[in-house]
Amino acid sequence: MSEKIFFCSECGDEISEGRYNLGYDLCLACGEREARKETKKKSKRVALAYNKGPYTYTTPNDNPKALGKK
Ligand SMILES: [Zn+2]
Repeated sequence: MSEKIFFCSECGDEISEGRYNLGYDLCLACGEREARKETKKKSKRVALAYNKGPYTYTTPNDNPKALGKK
């Protein structure tokens, strides 16, 4: 018998050798859950980058100057 059995490092479910050879050490269900986590992290990062944009234009020093001119 040359068939090897691999197990999910998350839940201990059996993983096919083909899947393991692709670089997965998680079963389908755990792999999908991890992928969803990654997607959430990425979208959060994008949102943060978006929020930072406007702040760079309104530095604390700009407001007193604008008020002083009026
Ligand atoms: Zn699993």
